[in-house]
Amino acid sequence: MLVATAAEPRTTDTGAAPAIALRGIRKVFGSGSGAVTAVHDLDLDISDGEFVTLLGPSGSGKTTVLRIVAGFEQPTAGRVLLRGRDVTGVAPFDRDVHTVFQDYALFPHMSVRRNVEYPLRIAKVGRTERRDRAMEALETVRLGPMADRAPTELSGGQRQRVALARALVDRPSVLLLDEPLGALDLKLREQMQLELKDIQRKSGITFVLVTHDQDEALTLADRIVVFNDGRVEQAGAAHEVYEHPASPFVAGFVGTSNLVGPEVAPAVLGREGSWSVRPEKIAISEPDADVPAGHVGADGTVSELVYTGPTTRCVVALDAGASLSVLLLNGGQRDTAPERGARVRLSWHPDHQIPLG
Ligand code: ATP
Repeated sequence: MLVATAAEPRTTDTGAAPAIALRGIRKVFGSGSGAVTAVHDLDLDISDGEFVTLLGPSGSGKTTVLRIVAGFEQPTAGRVLLRGRDVTGVAPFDRDVHTVFQDYALFPHMSVRRNVEYPLRIAKVGRTERRDRAMEALETVRLGPMADRAPTELSGGQRQRVALARALVDRPSVLLLDEPLGALDLKLREQMQLELKDIQRKSGITFVLVTHDQDEALTLADRIVVFNDGRVEQAGAAHEVYEHPASPFVAGFVGTSNLVGPEVAPAVLGREGSWSVRPEKIAISEPDADVPAGHVGADGTVSELVYTGPTTRCVVALDAGASLSVLLLNGGQRDTAPERGARVRLSWHPDHQIPLG
């Protein structure tokens, strides 16, 4: 359970306080008629060694929460506790927390190694130990051979790894990552996602990563916290959030929602309320095919086909209303996708109908 309402931070099974506990956090920017409430009364616990992603659309408040944990922003109300210590008024550099930003913020006139050594120099660590620990951190991100280069002589992905090594070098208990992979191309981003996961697992450091990319959130996190309009809509493991979205917003933001709203649900599903069926759970067949026993069937017309390489997304306008996307795997010997305008029959098992709040 992520959201806690207790006044004091919950303790884990071992009796330790959570790595991060947010209590009644509210943040209002501006005043009067121009005031914007970026975060509404947030309670959140993050355990030691967890990898949590804060996911939400632009303006939903996730960066503000990260900045409040880091100490770059003061909450209007509420408290921030790190391992049970109230750090609400404490400066960023006096918190056992580091932040990695999207723009890397490396010093261009220093070598890669000196960039990584920097936090240790500030902490007055001796020269030899500084050097050894910087090299160790660079090995962790597989950049040891590039220690003497200038940041300008590196690719974007390598620069991001230097920023990560610098954040890891003095072994913080919490690492905050603000869209750290946003500037990288897709291939590099996917590679860095696996590396981040690996580094997090090996280091045991608590990672909190902000992203608006649902694939990234699903790939990386032990738990996903979905933000909407300054509030947490849902918090849970990737499969929980995907398979059991708590609201139409979460169903739409994490994956393709395939919303069957209350106006069409009785005709399509024979049920009241709002529902969702994920595209990969729906089978598509010829219009006169039998619906498998115990399944729900619905007829419609193909309105759109989107080829994406491994899959084709087929959008079907149902006769009873609503429009459903079906995911077809392009793995067979023949092209299984029907033509645009074709009549089709869809079917799915009722277990895959997700009730939406
Ligand atoms: P993005 O993905 O675009 O960074 P976000 O979910 O991280 O979005 P925040 O940056 O936390 O969202 O912003 C939440 C709300 O607070 C937005 O409405 C934003 O305009 C507002 N806001 C954020 N920082 C400030 C500020 N310094 N002054 C005034 N308003 C702000």
